[in-house]
Amino acid sequence: MYPSMAEKTIIIGAGPVGSLAALYAAVRGHHVDVYELRPDLRDPETIPLNFAKSINLALSERGINSLAQTGLPNLVDAVLNETIPMHGRMIHLSKNGEYTREPQLYDARGKSLSAMDRTGLNKTLLDHLESMPNVNFFFHHKLIGVDFKKRLAWFERHHHTDDPVRGFEIEVKFDFMIGADGAHSAVRYHLMKFTPMSYQQEYIDKLWCQFHIPPGPDGEFRLPPNYLHIWPQDESMFIALPNQDKSFTATLFLTRSGFEQLDASGQVIDYFSNKFPGVIPSLITHDELRKQYTTNQHLPLISIKCTPYHFGSSGVILGDAAHAMVPFYGQGMNAGLEDVRVLFDIMDKYPNDRAKALKEYSEQRTPDAQTINDLALRNYREMATDVKKPLYLLRKWLEEKLDLYLPNVGWATQYSRVTFSNMRYSEVQYRAHRQASILNGVVGLTLATLVGSGFWIARAGGLQKVKMGILR
Ligand code: FAD
Repeated sequence: MYPSMAEKTIIIGAGPVGSLAALYAAVRGHHVDVYELRPDLRDPETIPLNFAKSINLALSERGINSLAQTGLPNLVDAVLNETIPMHGRMIHLSKNGEYTREPQLYDARGKSLSAMDRTGLNKTLLDHLESMPNVNFFFHHKLIGVDFKKRLAWFERHHHTDDPVRGFEIEVKFDFMIGADGAHSAVRYHLMKFTPMSYQQEYIDKLWCQFHIPPGPDGEFRLPPNYLHIWPQDESMFIALPNQDKSFTATLFLTRSGFEQLDASGQVIDYFSNKFPGVIPSLITHDELRKQYTTNQHLPLISIKCTPYHFGSSGVILGDAAHAMVPFYGQGMNAGLEDVRVLFDIMDKYPNDRAKALKEYSEQRTPDAQTINDLALRNYREMATDVKKPLYLLRKWLEEKLDLYLPNVGWATQYSRVTFSNMRYSEVQYRAHRQASILNGVVGLTLATLVGSGFWIARAGGLQKVKMGILR
């Protein structure tokens, strides 16, 4: 049991990361107050329309492990019951004018990602929190100020999130604040005034727009459900993840100028016909596509790095508030949930010295969060371009075979370590670099041998063509 039972931990933001942090604090006996800007998303009466829309995402090992480490029986099962396994990518291409679909499994041992609705996960976490006597919720409370030295926070309280009238202000005393208030974190903004925080943000040149692909006329999935479907087109990409109601949630990623050109020309249908074979009209009708393209927002993607994440013993930021990342590695939420596990593991190590724990947390987590942030930025290329290349497939195949048949050597793909293990992200990158240099050495040696033998064959028999054939 945590020694500071009388201490008040306040959580800012009841998204997936804040809700999990509240659970970790609650099972350790903290008095937990959760403050959330928006209404309770479980209450259909008070949900504003735009908040009812949710993204579906890929939950993987780090997220699942962090849920399991709460020690709450049933939590993982409750979450996984609402997921659909995705065993691999399904690549949709047009080859010589013919529409092809090629599956690429994620893992030689059959491991899979779990597609799920972010709001569904959030609701399950809130339900579990609700049943704990030492947890209170304060919805419609917007954090507007923090003094981390005096441990005071100020909130604006609204009756509705869209209330045009400025809400009334309240002051709250706390012992420990966990800021999980997302990419545009108010906690981070105030933390910066108390700690010399390095901060970097970047909007990448891709916007995203979501589409709903309904079940087919027979009520069934319109595509094989156990895949993350990808239409890779280099500068743009269309993906689709399955939902439990047999629909798919799809996302178009495209450059800002690409969206502007489509807006100006109105040629969305042509664009989809040319770039994304098999989408219209089999998955979505022309009218629906046009309507959804126009109605659904075209949203930016932000990547944030900062450090440190804490001040003294009074506050820390987690999840997107600390390291919002682009979605191309499917790790944003998984990494945020892992933050919670790592933070509480370290706090458990120093039960009487939270300042020491928070310092260690910042030092340990910074290189890991920054690594996955960079990997996520780079992974767009893998999803939108590399998956089509024979060399990428050859390398993937080779690495998977090494992993499968030489398990003692400890070989694994970077993707597999990021997605299906709990190895620190910085360690994953270190091992990936080491493996790459070994593989490059082996490939280089093989090529040199082949070239060398080609040279001697050519000299001996004048068969220059052999050498050229090998090199091509
Ligand atoms: P949020 O979910 O942003 O929650 C923050 C909460 O804080 C919100 O409820 C907000 O209302 C509240 N809040 C904000 N300001 C205040 C304030 N001033 N006072 C009080 N409350 C406040 N991640 C994955 O792991 N896998 C994926 O496949 C994946 N796919 C994605 C696809 C897309 C298109 C996008 C955009 C993201 C994806 N992500 C994915 C990332 C994932 O959605 C985020 O990393 C995750 O939601 C972050 O959770 P969070 O709790 O830190 O922040």
